[in-house]
Amino acid sequence: MSSYFSKTSRLGRVNTGSVAQRLADTPGVARTILDAARAARGTPGADPRAMSHSWLFTGPPGSGRSLAALDFAAALMCTDSEEPGCGRCEACQAVLDAKQHTDLVLVDPQEVIIPVDTVREVIGRAASLPTVAPWRVVIFNNADRLNNNGANALLKTVEEPPARTVIIMCAPSDAPEDFSQTLRSRCRHLYIPSPSVESITAQLVSEGASDHDAHLAALTSLRHVG
Ligand SMILES: [Zn+2]
Repeated sequence: MSSYFSKTSRLGRVNTGSVAQRLADTPGVARTILDAARAARGTPGADPRAMSHSWLFTGPPGSGRSLAALDFAAALMCTDSEEPGCGRCEACQAVLDAKQHTDLVLVDPQEVIIPVDTVREVIGRAASLPTVAPWRVVIFNNADRLNNNGANALLKTVEEPPARTVIIMCAPSDAPEDFSQTLRSRCRHLYIPSPSVESITAQLVSEGASDHDAHLAALTSLRHVG
């Protein structure tokens, strides 16, 4: 078994659910992501315009922007011939459960400003072809933390992404001015709405909480998916 498969392979399979199931609460998001993935793999009948190499995911805090980005990554990297983002194949499991895949570059900055050196390193990794998956996927969480230097360094890559590379930047929608306007104008934009109380409840129940506790926790979660 190749080494890119994460702990999921060693510990056994995890039921992550398919991307379609995971995004069932936000059908518009599910449709955009799955249509893009079908276009990316050249599914007959898919609209090629549904795919773009550079994306910006925005949404209110807690809406699950970075989870949606992982869902998109799984749909692109999935090896199931029928259903992109099947949730069962090793690529889906690696991305959705472990958030680790040799062709996934996940930037999760802890700093208030993403250092320009980090951006340059990511650009270097984005430039190489994927090794096992059909696509290399670069996810920038908190992309609003790119300052002018970082945004300028990234600009060319976003404008003309390397072949078989997809860049997904995630930024909160409550302060859009924080995100580089120049980068924004070069990305396909996808808005991720807050999850409903019902969907948070269902998620908690699926993780083993009682109906009553799950509903109470969902009500007090302020619709923050975390
Ligand atoms: Zn899959």
